[in-house]
Amino acid sequence: MSSIYIHVPFCRSKCAYCDFFSVIRHDDAEKVVKAIVQEYELRRGEIPDDVHTVYIGGGTPSVLSPEMLCEMIAPIPLEHVKEFTIEANPDDVTDEMARYWKGLGINRVSMGVQSFVDSELRAVGRRHSAGDARRACGILRDAGFDNISLDLIYGLPGQTAESWKYSLDTLVDIRPEHFSAYLLSYEPRTRLTSMLKAGKITEASDDEVEERYHMLCTAAAAAGYEHYEISNFALPGRRSVHNSGYWTGVPYLGLGPAAHSFDGALRRYNPSSIGEYLASVGSPEVEPETESDRFNDRVLTALRTGEGLVYPQQSDCLDLKDFNQEVRRMLRQGLLMESNGKIHIPEERWLVSDSIIRDLFV
Ligand code: SF4
Repeated sequence: MSSIYIHVPFCRSKCAYCDFFSVIRHDDAEKVVKAIVQEYELRRGEIPDDVHTVYIGGGTPSVLSPEMLCEMIAPIPLEHVKEFTIEANPDDVTDEMARYWKGLGINRVSMGVQSFVDSELRAVGRRHSAGDARRACGILRDAGFDNISLDLIYGLPGQTAESWKYSLDTLVDIRPEHFSAYLLSYEPRTRLTSMLKAGKITEASDDEVEERYHMLCTAAAAAGYEHYEISNFALPGRRSVHNSGYWTGVPYLGLGPAAHSFDGALRRYNPSSIGEYLASVGSPEVEPETESDRFNDRVLTALRTGEGLVYPQQSDCLDLKDFNQEVRRMLRQGLLMESNGKIHIPEERWLVSDSIIRDLFV
């Protein structure tokens, strides 16, 4: 079993908070598509043949023309694929495009909606409006998509408890099979961070963030969504198969600039530069990893999910005395819970999970 991720590094404009690798000039789009095809042929042996999920992300894959998209995925074997996702911006979704995606075998669309309040979308430089997002969901349903995922962001500049409730209520009304909700983060060298430093916007306070998180969990549970990972919610049976694979160690091949891969033992990554990627197709860098890196990574990914981490952890190469001591302390303090041979962070503590997980690193 394996997965393929394709990074399409093009966007029509740059959102104020974004630090993903993407460029707004599309002159190299055809070259990148051809290079991705070439890269797949050179590296397909890194993962088992039975690819069960494909995820086209970015960037904004929906900026690719139908011809480029078709060329890019043509060599990928789809016979075992259960979940085939494309990320889209709401204003790129047209009847024609949706039907085309469906015809290619794409069966899941993930859309960056972020908010259903226009002033909040404008504040962070999103191109689409709330109306565009609603319209796009309707188009996708009409085209036969029965697996839609929407992204929301909380902590946006100008967002209030009322406006967040409005976004959550609207999302629940649309009833996507899956949604992700992220806390806005201020990354270095983004326009958003410059706006903050210049005093043009203010950051949501800890109390506000806590309140929004509580509203999110309550609304999701009331509408029947399972909170199965810190930022991810799904209707029964609709968890993201692709993302779940990342958290459970399924090998995946990452194609395109800035894409990461894992063959079951080694992690590799492509350069975050179109020029460097085109000059070195098929020769990703290997990420040096120690035994502790691997252990910490397992702790990090497992404790971000509701499933949790198998406990006790054993290791032939690592001394886990301190780790086990910390786990016992956290269990006493209610920062961790234990059930069915696993430990997990209770949902009400997921907002501070970073510091809990950091304290467990070896
Ligand atoms: S559309 Fe997505 S990838 Fe592109 S700039 Fe906005 S957040 Fe970043």
